[in-house]
Amino acid sequence: MVPLVLPLPSLTVLASVLTGAAARSEAKRGAGDDRGTAVRVAVVKESAPGERRVALVPETVPRLVQAGLQVLVERGAGDGAWFPDSAYTDAGATIASTEDLYRDADAILTVTRPDEAAIGRLRAGQAVIGMLAPLVDPQFARVLAERGVTAISLDGLPRTLSRAQGMDALTSQANVAGYKAALVAAEAYGRFFPLLITAAGTARPAKLLVLGTGVAGLQAIGTARRLGAQVSGYDVRPASKGEVESLGATFLELTSAVSAAGEGGYARELTAEERDAQQAELAAHIARHDVIITTAQVPGRRPPLLVTADAVAAMSPGSVIVDMGSSPLGGNVAGSEPGRTVVTPNGVTIIGAQNLPASVPTASSNAYSRNISALLLHLVGGSPDDPASRALAIDTTDEIQAGVIIAHGGEIVHPAVAKLLDTAEPGVVQAASGQVQNGQAASEQAGGEDADGEPAANQRS
Ligand code: NAD
Repeated sequence: MVPLVLPLPSLTVLASVLTGAAARSEAKRGAGDDRGTAVRVAVVKESAPGERRVALVPETVPRLVQAGLQVLVERGAGDGAWFPDSAYTDAGATIASTEDLYRDADAILTVTRPDEAAIGRLRAGQAVIGMLAPLVDPQFARVLAERGVTAISLDGLPRTLSRAQGMDALTSQANVAGYKAALVAAEAYGRFFPLLITAAGTARPAKLLVLGTGVAGLQAIGTARRLGAQVSGYDVRPASKGEVESLGATFLELTSAVSAAGEGGYARELTAEERDAQQAELAAHIARHDVIITTAQVPGRRPPLLVTADAVAAMSPGSVIVDMGSSPLGGNVAGSEPGRTVVTPNGVTIIGAQNLPASVPTASSNAYSRNISALLLHLVGGSPDDPASRALAIDTTDEIQAGVIIAHGGEIVHPAVAKLLDTAEPGVVQAASGQVQNGQAASEQAGGEDADGEPAANQRS
Protein backbone atom coordinates (compact mmCIF):
# COMPACT_ATOMS: atom_id res chain seq x y z
CA MET A 1 0.00 0.00 0.00
CA VAL A 2 1.35 3.43 -0.90
CA PRO A 3 1.62 5.63 2.20
CA LEU A 4 -0.37 8.80 1.75
CA VAL A 5 0.63 12.22 2.95
CA LEU A 6 -2.53 13.62 4.39
CA PRO A 7 -3.37 17.09 5.59
CA LEU A 8 -3.76 17.53 9.32
CA PRO A 9 -7.51 16.99 9.51
CA SER A 10 -7.05 13.58 7.92
CA LEU A 11 -4.89 12.39 10.78
CA THR A 12 -8.01 12.33 12.88
CA VAL A 13 -9.45 9.89 10.39
CA LEU A 14 -6.81 7.22 10.56
CA ALA A 15 -8.38 3.99 11.68
CA SER A 16 -11.42 5.84 12.90
CA VAL A 17 -14.18 3.28 13.34
CA LEU A 18 -17.80 4.19 13.10
CA THR A 19 -19.67 1.20 14.48
CA GLY A 20 -23.27 0.63 13.59
CA ALA A 21 -24.19 0.73 17.23
CA ALA A 22 -22.17 3.88 17.95
CA ALA A 23 -23.46 5.73 14.92
CA ARG A 24 -27.00 4.99 15.95
CA SER A 25 -26.54 5.94 19.56
CA GLU A 26 -27.20 9.61 18.79
CA ALA A 27 -30.27 8.77 16.75
CA LYS A 28 -31.39 6.50 19.52
CA ARG A 29 -31.44 9.39 21.91
CA GLY A 30 -34.08 10.98 19.69
CA ALA A 31 -35.74 7.85 18.46
CA GLY A 32 -35.95 6.11 21.80
CA ASP A 33 -35.24 2.62 20.54
CA ASP A 34 -32.56 0.39 19.15
CA ARG A 35 -33.49 -2.31 16.70
CA GLY A 36 -30.35 -4.41 16.62
CA THR A 37 -26.71 -3.86 16.04
CA ALA A 38 -25.95 -4.71 12.38
CA VAL A 39 -24.90 -1.88 10.10
CA ARG A 40 -28.04 -0.43 8.56
CA VAL A 41 -27.88 0.94 5.06
CA ALA A 42 -30.77 2.85 3.57
CA VAL A 43 -31.71 3.29 -0.08
CA VAL A 44 -33.45 6.61 -0.66
CA LYS A 45 -35.74 7.67 -3.48
CA GLU A 46 -33.80 10.00 -5.76
CA SER A 47 -35.17 13.52 -5.84
CA ALA A 48 -33.39 15.24 -8.76
CA PRO A 49 -35.75 16.12 -11.62
CA GLY A 50 -35.89 13.31 -14.19
CA GLU A 51 -33.70 11.02 -12.10
CA ARG A 52 -35.04 7.48 -12.40
CA ARG A 53 -32.08 5.50 -11.09
CA VAL A 54 -31.94 3.86 -7.69
CA ALA A 55 -28.76 3.25 -5.72
CA LEU A 56 -29.41 -0.40 -4.90
CA VAL A 57 -31.47 -2.94 -6.85
CA PRO A 58 -33.13 -6.00 -5.29
CA GLU A 59 -30.63 -8.38 -6.89
CA THR A 60 -27.82 -6.88 -4.77
CA VAL A 61 -29.69 -6.97 -1.46
CA PRO A 62 -28.94 -10.63 -0.54
CA ARG A 63 -25.22 -9.98 -0.96
CA LEU A 64 -25.36 -7.24 1.66
CA VAL A 65 -27.65 -9.22 3.96
CA GLN A 66 -25.32 -12.22 3.78
CA ALA A 67 -22.49 -9.87 4.74
CA GLY A 68 -24.35 -9.05 7.95
CA LEU A 69 -25.88 -5.71 6.89
CA GLN A 70 -29.50 -4.62 7.19
CA VAL A 71 -31.03 -2.96 4.16
CA LEU A 72 -33.79 -0.37 4.48
CA VAL A 73 -35.49 0.95 1.36
CA GLU A 74 -37.56 4.13 1.14
CA ARG A 75 -41.05 3.39 -0.12
CA GLY A 76 -41.12 3.65 -3.93
CA ALA A 77 -37.34 4.12 -4.23
CA GLY A 78 -37.04 1.67 -7.13
CA ASP A 79 -40.23 2.60 -8.98
CA GLY A 80 -38.48 4.75 -11.61
CA ALA A 81 -36.22 1.85 -12.55
CA TRP A 82 -39.05 -0.72 -12.46
CA PHE A 83 -38.13 -2.29 -9.14
CA PRO A 84 -41.28 -2.47 -6.98
CA ASP A 85 -41.14 -2.44 -3.18
CA SER A 86 -42.20 -6.10 -3.16
CA ALA A 87 -39.02 -7.09 -5.04
CA TYR A 88 -36.93 -5.49 -2.29
CA THR A 89 -38.83 -7.22 0.52
CA ASP A 90 -38.59 -10.55 -1.32
CA ALA A 91 -34.83 -10.00 -1.49
CA GLY A 92 -34.56 -9.44 2.26
CA ALA A 93 -34.83 -5.65 2.60
CA THR A 94 -37.26 -3.69 4.77
CA ILE A 95 -39.43 -0.96 3.30
CA ALA A 96 -39.37 2.10 5.54
CA SER A 97 -40.87 5.55 5.72
CA THR A 98 -38.59 8.49 4.97
CA GLU A 99 -38.56 9.49 8.63
CA ASP A 100 -37.68 6.01 9.96
CA LEU A 101 -35.03 5.53 7.34
CA TYR A 102 -33.09 8.71 8.12
CA ARG A 103 -33.45 8.07 11.83
CA ASP A 104 -32.25 4.47 11.80
CA ALA A 105 -29.70 4.24 9.02
CA ASP A 106 -25.95 4.25 9.54
CA ALA A 107 -25.35 4.91 5.85
CA ILE A 108 -27.60 6.50 3.24
CA LEU A 109 -27.05 5.17 -0.29
CA THR A 110 -27.83 7.56 -3.15
CA VAL A 111 -27.11 7.94 -6.83
CA THR A 112 -26.89 11.71 -6.91
CA ARG A 113 -26.40 14.05 -4.00
CA PRO A 114 -29.16 14.54 -1.44
CA ASP A 115 -31.43 17.57 -1.82
CA GLU A 116 -31.87 20.22 0.85
CA ALA A 117 -34.69 18.41 2.61
CA ALA A 118 -32.58 15.26 2.84
CA ILE A 119 -29.55 17.17 4.09
CA GLY A 120 -31.74 18.58 6.85
CA ARG A 121 -32.52 15.04 7.99
CA LEU A 122 -28.92 13.83 8.10
CA ARG A 123 -27.37 13.55 11.51
CA ALA A 124 -23.87 13.47 12.93
CA GLY A 125 -22.21 10.09 12.60
CA GLN A 126 -24.33 9.08 9.62
CA ALA A 127 -22.64 8.38 6.28
CA VAL A 128 -23.86 9.34 2.82
CA ILE A 129 -22.53 7.30 -0.09
CA GLY A 130 -23.23 8.39 -3.66
CA MET A 131 -21.98 10.44 -6.60
CA LEU A 132 -21.66 13.64 -4.57
CA ALA A 133 -19.51 15.71 -6.97
CA PRO A 134 -17.51 17.45 -4.24
CA LEU A 135 -15.02 18.96 -6.67
CA VAL A 136 -17.83 20.60 -8.60
CA ASP A 137 -19.47 21.97 -5.48
CA PRO A 138 -17.11 21.81 -2.50
CA GLN A 139 -19.48 23.98 -0.45
CA PHE A 140 -21.85 21.05 -0.44
CA ALA A 141 -19.11 18.89 1.07
CA ARG A 142 -18.53 21.60 3.69
CA VAL A 143 -22.22 21.55 4.65
CA LEU A 144 -22.06 17.80 5.20
CA ALA A 145 -18.83 18.12 7.20
CA GLU A 146 -20.39 20.80 9.40
CA ARG A 147 -23.27 18.45 10.13
CA GLY A 148 -20.77 15.77 11.20
CA VAL A 149 -21.82 13.57 8.28
CA THR A 150 -19.32 11.22 6.66
CA ALA A 151 -19.47 12.01 2.94
CA ILE A 152 -18.31 9.23 0.62
CA SER A 153 -18.26 9.96 -3.10
CA LEU A 154 -17.88 7.27 -5.74
CA ASP A 155 -16.72 9.79 -8.31
CA GLY A 156 -13.42 10.15 -6.43
CA LEU A 157 -12.53 6.48 -6.83
CA PRO A 158 -8.98 5.80 -8.17
CA ARG A 159 -10.00 4.23 -11.46
CA THR A 160 -6.72 2.66 -12.46
CA LEU A 161 -6.59 0.38 -9.39
CA SER A 162 -7.66 -3.05 -10.61
CA ARG A 163 -9.17 -3.97 -7.22
CA ALA A 164 -11.43 -0.90 -7.46
CA GLN A 165 -12.82 -1.64 -10.93
CA GLY A 166 -15.97 -3.26 -9.61
CA MET A 167 -16.70 -0.01 -7.74
CA ASP A 168 -16.15 2.27 -10.73
CA ALA A 169 -19.47 4.03 -11.15
CA LEU A 170 -18.04 6.67 -13.49
CA THR A 171 -17.24 3.90 -15.94
CA SER A 172 -20.50 2.00 -15.53
CA GLN A 173 -22.60 5.10 -16.00
CA ALA A 174 -20.48 6.39 -18.90
CA ASN A 175 -21.04 3.05 -20.60
CA VAL A 176 -24.79 3.47 -20.35
CA ALA A 177 -24.53 7.10 -21.50
CA GLY A 178 -22.48 6.20 -24.57
CA TYR A 179 -24.94 3.49 -25.57
CA LYS A 180 -27.91 5.83 -25.19
CA ALA A 181 -26.17 8.65 -27.05
CA ALA A 182 -25.99 6.48 -30.18
CA LEU A 183 -29.70 5.65 -29.87
CA VAL A 184 -30.62 9.31 -29.32
CA ALA A 185 -28.64 10.22 -32.44
CA ALA A 186 -30.31 7.47 -34.49
CA GLU A 187 -33.74 8.59 -33.31
CA ALA A 188 -33.13 12.21 -34.29
CA TYR A 189 -31.52 11.40 -37.64
CA GLY A 190 -33.95 11.50 -40.54
CA ARG A 191 -32.34 8.64 -42.43
CA PHE A 192 -31.15 5.10 -41.81
CA PHE A 193 -27.91 4.32 -40.00
CA PRO A 194 -27.20 1.10 -42.00
CA LEU A 195 -26.70 0.58 -45.69
CA LEU A 196 -30.06 -0.63 -47.00
CA ILE A 197 -30.61 -2.08 -50.43
CA THR A 198 -34.32 -2.33 -51.15
CA ALA A 199 -36.67 -2.44 -54.14
CA ALA A 200 -37.23 1.27 -53.53
CA GLY A 201 -33.53 1.98 -53.93
CA THR A 202 -30.32 2.01 -51.94
CA ALA A 203 -29.76 4.04 -48.78
CA ARG A 204 -26.15 4.77 -47.98
CA PRO A 205 -24.99 4.24 -44.41
CA ALA A 206 -24.81 7.22 -42.07
CA LYS A 207 -21.33 8.61 -41.50
CA LEU A 208 -20.91 9.03 -37.78
CA LEU A 209 -17.99 10.62 -35.92
CA VAL A 210 -17.37 10.23 -32.20
CA LEU A 211 -15.19 12.95 -30.67
CA GLY A 212 -13.66 11.81 -27.40
CA THR A 213 -13.21 8.05 -27.27
CA GLY A 214 -13.00 7.25 -23.57
CA VAL A 215 -15.51 4.93 -21.94
CA ALA A 216 -18.65 6.66 -23.26
CA GLY A 217 -17.18 7.30 -26.71
CA LEU A 218 -16.14 3.69 -27.21
CA GLN A 219 -19.57 2.46 -26.19
CA ALA A 220 -21.18 4.96 -28.59
CA ILE A 221 -18.91 3.66 -31.35
CA GLY A 222 -19.81 0.03 -30.62
CA THR A 223 -23.53 0.79 -30.53
CA ALA A 224 -23.49 2.89 -33.71
CA ARG A 225 -21.53 0.16 -35.48
CA ARG A 226 -24.12 -2.41 -34.42
CA LEU A 227 -26.79 -0.13 -35.87
CA GLY A 228 -24.87 -0.21 -39.14
CA ALA A 229 -23.38 3.28 -39.33
CA GLN A 230 -19.97 3.95 -40.85
CA VAL A 231 -18.09 5.09 -37.75
CA SER A 232 -14.95 7.13 -37.09
CA GLY A 233 -13.53 8.19 -33.76
CA TYR A 234 -11.07 10.81 -32.58
CA ASP A 235 -9.32 11.53 -29.30
CA VAL A 236 -6.29 13.47 -28.11
CA ARG A 237 -4.95 10.45 -26.22
CA PRO A 238 -2.85 8.39 -28.66
CA ALA A 239 -3.70 5.21 -26.70
CA SER A 240 -7.29 5.43 -27.85
CA LYS A 241 -6.40 4.78 -31.52
CA GLY A 242 -6.04 1.03 -30.98
CA GLU A 243 -9.27 0.89 -28.94
CA VAL A 244 -11.22 2.68 -31.69
CA GLU A 245 -9.81 0.39 -34.37
CA SER A 246 -10.48 -2.72 -32.31
CA LEU A 247 -14.18 -1.85 -32.53
CA GLY A 248 -14.00 -1.79 -36.32
CA ALA A 249 -14.13 2.00 -36.56
CA THR A 250 -11.65 4.31 -38.28
CA PHE A 251 -9.42 6.52 -36.15
CA LEU A 252 -9.29 10.08 -37.40
CA GLU A 253 -5.69 11.24 -37.64
CA LEU A 254 -5.24 15.01 -37.47
CA THR A 255 -2.08 16.49 -38.95
CA SER A 256 -2.15 19.06 -36.14
CA ALA A 257 -2.46 16.27 -33.57
CA VAL A 258 -0.53 16.53 -30.34
CA SER A 259 -0.43 13.93 -27.64
CA ALA A 260 -2.54 15.29 -24.81
CA ALA A 261 -2.39 12.27 -22.54
CA GLY A 262 -2.59 13.60 -19.00
CA GLU A 263 -2.41 11.94 -15.60
CA GLY A 264 -4.24 8.74 -14.69
CA GLY A 265 -5.11 7.89 -18.30
CA TYR A 266 -7.08 11.11 -18.77
CA ALA A 267 -6.53 13.90 -21.27
CA ARG A 268 -4.89 17.19 -20.35
CA GLU A 269 -6.35 20.53 -21.36
CA LEU A 270 -5.01 21.75 -24.72
CA THR A 271 -3.18 25.05 -24.99
CA ALA A 272 -4.97 27.84 -26.85
CA GLU A 273 -2.84 27.25 -29.96
CA GLU A 274 -3.40 23.49 -29.88
CA ARG A 275 -7.13 24.02 -29.41
CA ASP A 276 -7.39 26.45 -32.34
CA ALA A 277 -5.49 24.08 -34.64
CA GLN A 278 -7.65 21.17 -33.53
CA GLN A 279 -10.92 23.04 -34.03
CA ALA A 280 -9.90 24.26 -37.48
CA GLU A 281 -8.84 20.83 -38.70
CA LEU A 282 -11.77 19.02 -37.13
CA ALA A 283 -14.23 21.40 -38.84
CA ALA A 284 -13.44 19.97 -42.27
CA HIS A 285 -14.01 16.40 -41.05
CA ILE A 286 -17.18 17.33 -39.19
CA ALA A 287 -18.70 18.78 -42.39
CA ARG A 288 -18.28 15.38 -44.08
CA HIS A 289 -20.24 13.53 -41.42
CA ASP A 290 -23.98 13.16 -40.87
CA VAL A 291 -23.91 12.50 -37.16
CA ILE A 292 -21.48 13.69 -34.48
CA ILE A 293 -21.40 12.43 -30.90
CA THR A 294 -19.13 14.35 -28.56
CA THR A 295 -18.00 13.03 -25.17
CA ALA A 296 -14.80 14.99 -24.50
CA GLN A 297 -14.00 15.83 -20.91
CA VAL A 298 -10.89 17.00 -19.08
CA PRO A 299 -10.90 16.32 -15.34
CA GLY A 300 -11.61 19.44 -13.33
CA ARG A 301 -12.04 21.72 -16.36
CA ARG A 302 -14.98 22.77 -18.45
CA PRO A 303 -15.53 20.46 -21.46
CA PRO A 304 -13.36 21.51 -24.43
CA LEU A 305 -15.11 23.11 -27.41
CA LEU A 306 -14.56 20.76 -30.35
CA VAL A 307 -17.35 21.74 -32.73
CA THR A 308 -17.33 25.47 -33.40
CA ALA A 309 -20.18 27.56 -34.75
CA ASP A 310 -18.41 27.62 -38.15
CA ALA A 311 -18.17 23.82 -38.12
CA VAL A 312 -21.89 23.53 -37.36
CA ALA A 313 -22.68 26.01 -40.13
CA ALA A 314 -20.74 23.89 -42.62
CA MET A 315 -22.78 20.73 -41.90
CA SER A 316 -25.57 19.56 -44.20
CA PRO A 317 -29.25 20.03 -43.33
CA GLY A 318 -30.52 16.99 -41.45
CA SER A 319 -27.23 16.40 -39.66
CA VAL A 320 -27.40 15.56 -35.97
CA ILE A 321 -25.03 16.37 -33.11
CA VAL A 322 -25.35 14.82 -29.66
CA ASP A 323 -23.28 16.80 -27.16
CA MET A 324 -22.64 14.69 -24.08
CA GLY A 325 -20.41 17.42 -22.64
CA SER A 326 -23.29 19.89 -22.59
CA SER A 327 -23.43 21.88 -19.35
CA PRO A 328 -24.65 25.29 -18.19
CA LEU A 329 -21.13 26.61 -18.82
CA GLY A 330 -20.93 25.28 -22.35
CA GLY A 331 -20.17 21.91 -23.86
CA ASN A 332 -18.23 20.37 -26.72
CA VAL A 333 -20.48 22.02 -29.29
CA ALA A 334 -21.14 25.72 -29.94
CA GLY A 335 -24.82 26.47 -29.43
CA SER A 336 -25.69 23.34 -27.47
CA GLU A 337 -28.01 23.85 -24.53
CA PRO A 338 -28.10 21.35 -21.69
CA GLY A 339 -31.29 19.34 -21.65
CA ARG A 340 -32.57 20.93 -24.87
CA THR A 341 -32.67 20.18 -28.57
CA VAL A 342 -31.85 23.09 -30.84
CA VAL A 343 -32.25 23.16 -34.62
CA THR A 344 -29.89 25.63 -36.27
CA PRO A 345 -30.90 27.85 -39.23
CA ASN A 346 -28.99 25.50 -41.56
CA GLY A 347 -30.97 22.50 -40.32
CA VAL A 348 -28.56 20.88 -37.89
CA THR A 349 -30.14 19.31 -34.81
CA ILE A 350 -27.97 19.83 -31.71
CA ILE A 351 -28.99 17.76 -28.72
CA GLY A 352 -27.63 18.87 -25.35
CA ALA A 353 -27.66 15.45 -23.77
CA GLN A 354 -28.00 15.41 -20.03
CA ASN A 355 -28.00 12.55 -17.59
CA LEU A 356 -28.45 9.89 -20.24
CA PRO A 357 -27.99 7.07 -17.68
CA ALA A 358 -31.26 8.18 -16.04
CA SER A 359 -33.04 7.40 -19.31
CA VAL A 360 -31.86 3.78 -19.18
CA PRO A 361 -32.71 3.44 -15.50
CA THR A 362 -32.78 -0.32 -15.04
CA ALA A 363 -29.43 -1.01 -16.67
CA SER A 364 -27.72 1.96 -15.05
CA SER A 365 -29.16 1.11 -11.61
CA ASN A 366 -28.10 -2.54 -11.94
CA ALA A 367 -24.53 -1.49 -12.65
CA TYR A 368 -24.46 1.28 -10.06
CA SER A 369 -25.87 -1.07 -7.45
CA ARG A 370 -22.97 -3.47 -7.99
CA ASN A 371 -20.51 -0.56 -7.79
CA ILE A 372 -21.89 0.93 -4.58
CA SER A 373 -22.28 -2.42 -2.82
CA ALA A 374 -18.69 -3.36 -3.71
CA LEU A 375 -17.50 -0.09 -2.21
CA LEU A 376 -19.73 -0.53 0.82
CA LEU A 377 -18.37 -4.01 1.51
CA HIS A 378 -14.86 -2.63 1.15
CA LEU A 379 -15.66 -0.01 3.79
CA VAL A 380 -17.31 -2.33 6.27
CA GLY A 381 -15.03 -4.04 8.76
CA GLY A 382 -15.83 -6.89 11.16
CA SER A 383 -17.07 -10.40 10.40
CA PRO A 384 -20.18 -11.42 8.43
CA ASP A 385 -20.73 -14.11 11.08
CA ASP A 386 -21.04 -11.47 13.78
CA PRO A 387 -23.33 -8.68 12.59
CA ALA A 388 -22.62 -6.70 15.75
CA SER A 389 -18.97 -6.48 14.72
CA ARG A 390 -19.86 -5.00 11.33
CA ALA A 391 -19.00 -1.32 11.09
CA LEU A 392 -17.90 1.30 8.62
CA ALA A 393 -14.16 1.39 9.20
CA ILE A 394 -12.92 4.74 7.94
CA ASP A 395 -9.22 4.65 7.14
CA THR A 396 -7.88 7.11 4.59
CA THR A 397 -4.48 5.41 4.49
CA ASP A 398 -6.27 2.94 2.24
CA GLU A 399 -5.88 4.07 -1.38
CA ILE A 400 -9.52 3.52 -2.26
CA GLN A 401 -10.81 5.29 0.83
CA ALA A 402 -8.40 8.19 0.31
CA GLY A 403 -10.16 8.85 -3.00
CA VAL A 404 -13.73 8.52 -1.87
CA ILE A 405 -13.89 9.80 1.73
CA ILE A 406 -14.63 13.50 1.45
CA ALA A 407 -15.77 14.49 4.93
CA HIS A 408 -15.54 12.69 8.25
CA GLY A 409 -15.57 13.63 11.92
CA GLY A 410 -16.64 17.18 11.15
CA GLU A 411 -13.71 17.83 8.79
CA ILE A 412 -13.13 17.88 5.06
CA VAL A 413 -10.56 15.10 4.77
CA HIS A 414 -10.15 14.94 1.00
CA PRO A 415 -7.06 17.03 0.16
CA ALA A 416 -8.31 18.25 -3.25
CA VAL A 417 -11.68 19.33 -1.88
CA ALA A 418 -10.04 20.94 1.17
CA LYS A 419 -7.67 22.82 -1.13
CA LEU A 420 -10.53 24.09 -3.24
CA LEU A 421 -12.32 25.36 -0.16
CA ASP A 422 -9.15 26.93 1.27
CA THR A 423 -8.09 28.75 -1.87
CA ALA A 424 -11.40 29.86 -3.31
CA GLU A 425 -12.48 33.44 -2.84
CA PRO A 426 -15.90 33.66 -1.25
CA GLY A 427 -18.42 33.37 -4.05
CA VAL A 428 -15.94 31.86 -6.51
CA VAL A 429 -16.78 28.29 -5.64
CA GLN A 430 -20.48 28.15 -6.05
CA ALA A 431 -23.23 25.66 -5.68
CA ALA A 432 -24.07 24.41 -9.12
CA SER A 433 -27.26 23.24 -10.67
CA GLY A 434 -28.11 21.25 -13.75
CA GLN A 435 -26.88 17.93 -14.98
CA VAL A 436 -23.66 16.91 -16.58
CA GLN A 437 -22.70 13.44 -17.74
CA ASN A 438 -19.68 11.72 -16.19
CA GLY A 439 -20.76 9.63 -14.07
CA GLN A 440 -19.84 11.28 -14.10
CA ALA A 441 -19.95 10.79 -15.75
CA ALA A 442 -22.11 10.51 -16.40
CA SER A 443 -23.97 12.00 -13.91
CA GLU A 444 -25.63 14.91 -12.28
CA GLN A 445 -22.99 17.52 -12.07
CA ALA A 446 -22.71 20.93 -13.52
CA GLY A 447 -20.08 23.57 -13.49
CA GLY A 448 -19.02 25.86 -10.74
CA GLU A 449 -15.62 27.47 -10.92
CA ASP A 450 -12.45 25.96 -9.66
CA ALA A 451 -9.83 27.60 -7.53
CA ASP A 452 -8.14 29.18 -10.55
CA GLY A 453 -11.36 30.81 -11.54
CA GLU A 454 -11.68 28.35 -14.42
CA PRO A 455 -15.02 26.66 -14.77
CA ALA A 456 -14.93 23.07 -13.60
CA ALA A 457 -17.71 21.12 -15.13
CA ASN A 458 -16.76 17.59 -14.40
CA GLN A 459 -15.68 15.63 -11.45
CA ARG A 460 -12.50 13.71 -10.82
CA SER A 461 -9.92 13.80 -8.13
P1 NAD B 1 -13.36 11.41 -19.82
O1 NAD B 1 -14.83 11.24 -19.58
O2 NAD B 1 -12.55 12.24 -18.90
O3 NAD B 1 -13.15 12.01 -21.28
C1 NAD B 1 -13.73 11.42 -22.41
C2 NAD B 1 -12.71 11.44 -23.51
O4 NAD B 1 -12.51 12.77 -23.98
C3 NAD B 1 -11.33 10.94 -23.10
O5 NAD B 1 -11.00 9.82 -23.87
C4 NAD B 1 -10.42 12.12 -23.36
O6 NAD B 1 -9.14 11.75 -23.79
C5 NAD B 1 -11.19 12.86 -24.44
N1 NAD B 1 -10.81 14.26 -24.65
C6 NAD B 1 -10.52 15.22 -23.74
N2 NAD B 1 -10.20 16.37 -24.34
C7 NAD B 1 -10.29 16.16 -25.67
C8 NAD B 1 -10.08 16.97 -26.82
N3 NAD B 1 -9.71 18.25 -26.72
N4 NAD B 1 -10.26 16.41 -28.02
C9 NAD B 1 -10.63 15.11 -28.14
N5 NAD B 1 -10.85 14.30 -27.10
C10 NAD B 1 -10.67 14.81 -25.88
O7 NAD B 1 -12.65 10.00 -19.94
P2 NAD B 1 -13.14 8.55 -19.50
O8 NAD B 1 -14.01 8.01 -20.53
O9 NAD B 1 -13.65 8.60 -18.13
O10 NAD B 1 -11.79 7.72 -19.51
C11 NAD B 1 -10.56 8.28 -19.81
C12 NAD B 1 -9.47 7.24 -19.73
O11 NAD B 1 -9.47 6.56 -18.51
C13 NAD B 1 -9.56 6.18 -20.79
O12 NAD B 1 -8.25 5.88 -21.18
C14 NAD B 1 -10.11 5.02 -20.09
O13 NAD B 1 -9.79 3.82 -20.72
C15 NAD B 1 -9.41 5.18 -18.78
N6 NAD B 1 -10.09 4.42 -17.76
C16 NAD B 1 -9.39 3.42 -17.20
C17 NAD B 1 -10.00 2.64 -16.28
C18 NAD B 1 -9.26 1.52 -15.67
O14 NAD B 1 -8.09 1.41 -15.81
N7 NAD B 1 -9.94 0.67 -14.96
C19 NAD B 1 -11.30 2.87 -15.91
C20 NAD B 1 -11.98 3.92 -16.49
C21 NAD B 1 -11.34 4.69 -17.43
